Amino acid sequence: MSDIEELKELLSVPRKIVITTHQRPDGDAMGSSLALYHYLKENNHHPTVISPTEYPSFLCWMPGNDSVVIYEKEPKRCTQIVEESELIFCADFNKLERLDVLGNIIEASSAIKVLIDHHLEPNDFATFTFWSAQACSTAELVYDFIVRMGDKNVISKDIATCIYAGILTDTDRFRIPSTSPLVHRIAAELLELGINHTMIYEEVYETFSESRLRFFGFCIREKMQINKELKTGIISLETDDLKKFHIQTGDTEGLVNYPLWIKGIRLSVLIIQRPDGVKLSFRSKGDFDVNELANKNFKGGGHRNAAGGKSLLSVAETREQLISILAPLKKQLNP
Ligand code: 5GP
Ligand code: MN
Repeated sequence: MSDIEELKELLSVPRKIVITTHQRPDGDAMGSSLALYHYLKENNHHPTVISPTEYPSFLCWMPGNDSVVIYEKEPKRCTQIVEESELIFCADFNKLERLDVLGNIIEASSAIKVLIDHHLEPNDFATFTFWSAQACSTAELVYDFIVRMGDKNVISKDIATCIYAGILTDTDRFRIPSTSPLVHRIAAELLELGINHTMIYEEVYETFSESRLRFFGFCIREKMQINKELKTGIISLETDDLKKFHIQTGDTEGLVNYPLWIKGIRLSVLIIQRPDGVKLSFRSKGDFDVNELANKNFKGGGHRNAAGGKSLLSVAETREQLISILAPLKKQLNP
């Protein structure tokens, strides 16, 4: 029996289901999770979306958002929901470590795990895996999953809205190379279901506070260093920089893209001091592989042109370390 046939059989009776995603979820993580939530609910299951951590207000407008339970706020309740679940959908992550403590609880659970993801090198922790690194987003794979389940006609406006939000954000507004003709066809079908794509765009990208927009200006003006030889832009942020502008979780989302607006820049890195260590975000253009860079040097990963990682050094030391790692890669950055 194929995976999809087996899952169809498992899902032929109402199930208690957990849907979860990576910590500090982004638009694809929340869009994919909530699309699955609506899909499973419409099929008479009892799904709960559990996010390991909180997420920014520009993702809180999605239909079903009020039902999301946050592990860091309600660990006991979340543990109980996981323990009672029969199936766990794991959306938009390749390793359980990306869920921090919640990952251990899920690992210990005997529920059947279904992974839907597009990150490189997924770990083998799920019973069923719907994975493709070619997919522009996990949301694209959720769409594909629903179609393969024979339920294309079940796709409601709510499901469509969440899938569109995932695709919109993970393709950086239909920009990145994995935005295939198929992605545009899926988007067209979602539009035909009556979604309000202008509203979705505005909710995600045009809900800045004045302080956040001024913070972006400050980062570009004061905190961005351009290394012309390495064709690299680095924005480094200390705790004080974040405090000054009242920056909260998710407020730095999108900031890493700006150095790439400069002609010739091929690599952009955002280095931020977080309470639990330094977080790095990498974005590249063309063949320069930031998944490899993050994986080899910063305990991270992601995709060829977008990845993340961490460091236990200070922000300044991390920047120095990064530059020393990049120096021998100068040829790759100047193809
Ligand atoms: P961001 O820079 O927006 O946090 O992440 C960019 C991409 O890299 C996303 O697909 C994200 O899931 C992935 N990513 C970010 N941080 C990490 C990490 O620490 N480990 C791994 N494996 N992937 C990460
Ligand atoms: Mn994604």
